[in-house]
Amino acid sequence: MLTSYFYCNFANSNLFYLKEQLNHPVFKAVSEVAAQMQLKCYVIGGYVRDIIMERPSVDIDIMVIGSGIDLAKNVATLNGKDTKVKVFKNFGTAVFNYKYQDKVWQIEFVGARKESYRTDSRKPIVEDGTLEDDQNRRDFTINALAISLNKESYGELVDPFDGLNDINKKIIRTPLEPDITFSDDPLRMLRAIRFATQLDFFIQVPTIESIIKNADRIKIVSGERIIEEINKIILAKKPSIGFKLLYQTGLLKIIFPEFIELKGAEYVDGKGHKDNFLHTLEVLDNLSLHTDNLWLRWSAILHDIAKPNTKKFVKGTGWTFHAHEFVGAKMVPDIFKKLKLPLNEKMKYVEKLVLLHLRPIALVDEIVSDSAVRRLLFEAGDDIDDLMLLCESDITSKNQEKVKKYTTNFKIVRQKLKEIEEKDRIRNFQPPITGELIMEVFGLTPCKEIGTIKNKIKDAILDGIINNDYQQAYDYMLKLGNKLGLKVAKN
Ligand code: ATP
Ligand code: MG
Repeated sequence: MLTSYFYCNFANSNLFYLKEQLNHPVFKAVSEVAAQMQLKCYVIGGYVRDIIMERPSVDIDIMVIGSGIDLAKNVATLNGKDTKVKVFKNFGTAVFNYKYQDKVWQIEFVGARKESYRTDSRKPIVEDGTLEDDQNRRDFTINALAISLNKESYGELVDPFDGLNDINKKIIRTPLEPDITFSDDPLRMLRAIRFATQLDFFIQVPTIESIIKNADRIKIVSGERIIEEINKIILAKKPSIGFKLLYQTGLLKIIFPEFIELKGAEYVDGKGHKDNFLHTLEVLDNLSLHTDNLWLRWSAILHDIAKPNTKKFVKGTGWTFHAHEFVGAKMVPDIFKKLKLPLNEKMKYVEKLVLLHLRPIALVDEIVSDSAVRRLLFEAGDDIDDLMLLCESDITSKNQEKVKKYTTNFKIVRQKLKEIEEKDRIRNFQPPITGELIMEVFGLTPCKEIGTIKNKIKDAILDGIINNDYQQAYDYMLKLGNKLGLKVAKN
C-alpha cells in the first residue's frame, strides 16, 4: 500500500496529492495539451486504484470534460508521427499505445459521461457529463478515484466517495445506492465479486445484499461480458473466494447451474460422500498455486462435473461415480458453448484432461506395467505434465497420512513416466507405418484391414511387443498381413 502520498489538511477539506506517482511522461503531455485546449482532464479508475495499491498496471484511462477523441489526437501528435490513434466514435473514446520503460502502455481517452439505463435494455443512454456525473456512473468507490491533470491542481486526488479509505479498509462498495448501480449495469455484480477475489477485499453488506436481490438481472447481460469476468475470477490467486461468493449470491445458479449440482453431500445408511463443489474449489486453488494456464484451471473446475449424473450408492461398497470422467468429458462441449468459451483446441484440451484425470492414479496400482504408462503418454502427449499437475492438485484429503502416501506415489508415477519417455519416446509418437504404406505393400485399395493393421502395430508398440522403430514395425506389418491372408505386392 502506498504511504507516501502527500497529505495536506486545510480548514475544511482534505487534499491528497499523488504528483509523485504520475511519473509516466504521458501525464505531463496531456496536462500541457489540455491547458492549450482549455479542457479539464483527469486520470481515473483502475489506474488510480492500482497506483495507490502499488499494483503495476499499464492501462491508463484519461477522462476529459469534453471530447476525448480530440484530446487523444493532439497528445498523439506531440508524441510523434508513429503514434496511431484508434478511434471508437460510437463510444466517444480513443486509444493509443505508448512505449515507455520497455513496456507498451495503453492510453485511453474518454469524454466524461452521464449514463442512464432503461430496465428492459442493456444499452445505456449516454450523454456528455461533468466529472461528478462520470464518477457517479463508476462501479465502485475504489474505481471512481480521479487525479487531476489540470495545471492549477496537478496531482490532486478527487475522491467524492471516500474510495481511498475503502482501499485502506479493503472494501468493495458502490458509489451510489447499490440497487441503482447494479440495475444500471448488472455486470457490475460480477465485477464486485471479481475485484473482491483479485484484491482480496470484502464486499460491504448492503452491496452484497443488493447483489443477492438483483442476481436475476444478470440474465440481460451478454454471455461474452459475463465470461470475461468469470475468467478473471478463475485467474485470480485464490479463485475459490469468487466462486463461493457467486454461489452465495445466487449468481452461479444462473450462470453455471451444472457447477451448483456438485454442492452438498448425500447420506445413505449413515454413509456420505464429500461435497464435490468444495472439493473442486480446493483442487482449483491447489492448482492455481502452480499454473496461470486458464484452460488447465478450467479442467480443474470441470474434472468432476459428471459426479452428480453418475452417482450411485452400492450396498457394501458405498458411493460410486462410475465413468464420471467419460461422461464429464462429453459434457465439456455443451458447457463451453453455453458459457461462450472457445470451441477450439482449448476445449479439446479441457476435454482430454477431464477424460484422463483418473489415469495417473490408476498407474499407482499398476506401477509394474510399462504398457499402461506408455498408453497414458500416448494419449496425453505433450499435456502429460499438465495432467500430472491436475492429479496432484486433486489430492484434497484431510488425512495427512493419505496425502503423504498419494504424493509419494505420484512422485513414483512421474519417475516412471520420465524413464519410459526417455526409453520409448511415446509422448508425440506417430505410428511408424502409415496407411499408404500398408496399401502399397499389399496392393490394397482402401479397406478395413488397413485400419486393423495400423491399430495392431500401435498396440504392439504401446504394449512393448515391439519397439517404437520403423524396421520392427515393418516386419510386424508383414506378419500381420500374412495372418490376414494378404499377399505382398511390393517389398
Ligand atoms: P482491470 O483493468 O484490472 O480489469 P479496472 O478497474 O481498470 O481493472 P476496467 O474494466 O479496465 O477495470 O475498467 C476501467 C474503469 O472503468 C474501472 O476502474 C471503472 O471505473 C470503470 N468501469 C469499467 N466497467 C464498468 C462498469 N461496467 N460499470 C461502471 N464502471 C465501469
Ligand atoms: Mg483496466
